[in-house]
Amino acid sequence: MDLTTLERLPLWIGGRAHAPTTTRYGEVTNPATGEVVRHVPFANAADVDAAVRSAEAAFGTWRAAPPLRRARVMMRFRELMDAHKKDLAKIVTQEHGKTLADAEGSITRGIEVVEFAMGIPHLLKGEHSENVGTDVDTWSIRQPLGVCAGITPFNFPAMVPMWMFPIAIACGNTFILKPSERDPTLSLRMGELLKEAGLPDGVFNVVHGDKEAVDALLVHPLIRAVSFVGSTPIARYIYETGTRHGKRVQALGGAKNHAVVLPDADLDYATEAIIGAGYGSAGERCMAISAVVAVGEAGDPLVAKLAARAKRITTGPGNAPGIEMGPVITCAARDRITGLIDKGVEEGATLVLDGRRPTIDGHPDGFFVGPTLFDHVKPSHAIYREEIFGPVLAVVRAESLDEAIGLINTNPYANGAAVFTRSGHAARVFQQDCEVGMAGVNVPIPVPMAFFSFGGWRNSLFGDLHVHGMDGVRFYTRTKVMTSRWPDDGSAAPGFHMPVMG
Ligand code: NAD
Repeated sequence: MDLTTLERLPLWIGGRAHAPTTTRYGEVTNPATGEVVRHVPFANAADVDAAVRSAEAAFGTWRAAPPLRRARVMMRFRELMDAHKKDLAKIVTQEHGKTLADAEGSITRGIEVVEFAMGIPHLLKGEHSENVGTDVDTWSIRQPLGVCAGITPFNFPAMVPMWMFPIAIACGNTFILKPSERDPTLSLRMGELLKEAGLPDGVFNVVHGDKEAVDALLVHPLIRAVSFVGSTPIARYIYETGTRHGKRVQALGGAKNHAVVLPDADLDYATEAIIGAGYGSAGERCMAISAVVAVGEAGDPLVAKLAARAKRITTGPGNAPGIEMGPVITCAARDRITGLIDKGVEEGATLVLDGRRPTIDGHPDGFFVGPTLFDHVKPSHAIYREEIFGPVLAVVRAESLDEAIGLINTNPYANGAAVFTRSGHAARVFQQDCEVGMAGVNVPIPVPMAFFSFGGWRNSLFGDLHVHGMDGVRFYTRTKVMTSRWPDDGSAAPGFHMPVMG
């Protein structure tokens, strides 16, 4: 079905489009034009329950399917996602605003998780020890949990759901995705492609909505685990509410990622890297660089180079050729970001490049903010303390690597951080002492590949396990440890003490 021609989106339950009972709908907007392109239902508790029942009914058969069969569905899904990548990217760009090339890249990063999940027969293998006691063997197996839910943010409508459901489903669980209400269409398209790949009905479901749908998922007794990615206040709420209702929860929150530039760094290389990491996707990436810590004499030349390069960034609609940066997601996001820029000026930071109210030819109603650069930002300023989630770079000056690491380690967020240097010693100190979940050396956005796990520390992650990689397999399975003995002499005696190996 061509979802992009529908005025009102359906839910996806039991392997087909499902008309919701809710009467509440929200608007989905093209951020480049400001036009409402379609409406999205805000599911109620009854709609959520219908999805959960469908997923619960599908679980028994799906968990019993051999892992290799589940892997083969993932293989076919991978091929379909790849074959349809250009059309999928158009949906992402229309609803999110990022450039087509960036949208395609994000789908590829999601496909890499499917490729990881294709190895599930190997990944699910447990451990086995023969003769842990006389004639006693012990082994462990990983079993699926049941119905799992994923609640995802607007900034990666393909990739972030794909951090979750390919592994959850390959492990033998069934899944309910509650995507962002800002860019919901891609999740339905993935439902169609999973069905085409041979996934049994009910294994993957989509409920759209806002807090009402999320709350219904968090308290539903048949939901066993919840994966969340979004802002920190909501991540904390999801973790606390979900765990209070007995669910396994991983909740990834917001970020304030620092790039430390040491005086010995290759400043041209660092500039290009930071420009892409700060302004790519209009700064709406959880691993975007938003704070640059310029150490010692790196400061003046670095700011001059960043300003010169940032001025040349082409801002415009993501589907036009030659555009490097698209709009931000909503009118409210644009106003929040420009408000924070105003605050930065008021609080005394030096505004080197002002992106407020840019003129974009032919797009007067789009939600655009131009590249913005601040220098001499202090840790007390709002533009340093708050997650801006827009194309705003804040340069803080520091005297030493230690001072720079101190800034990173006292920030409430701890997703990613990077250092730019030519010194192996400095890089090693950074690796050892920076307290974040993902760190880079001369790599501005150190996003781990699918076969490693992704996640932050402190307020960037609530829960114990990161997403994808082996942490993903651990999150979506529970371990059962078996112990067995097969006596053939009929001897039996009551054991009143702890059995020990002598
Ligand atoms: P958000 O927290 O507003 O929304 C995320 C999800 O939660 C959406 O599905 C939304 O419908 C739901 N939600 C929103 N308010 C809710 C409420 N009051 N109760 C229950 N559910 C609610 O986040 P967003 O604006 O969509 O995405 C941007 C945020 O996501 C940024 O903070 C960014 O750093 C973060 N993010 C983090 C990572 C990471 O890996 N840590 C990755 C991507 C995005």
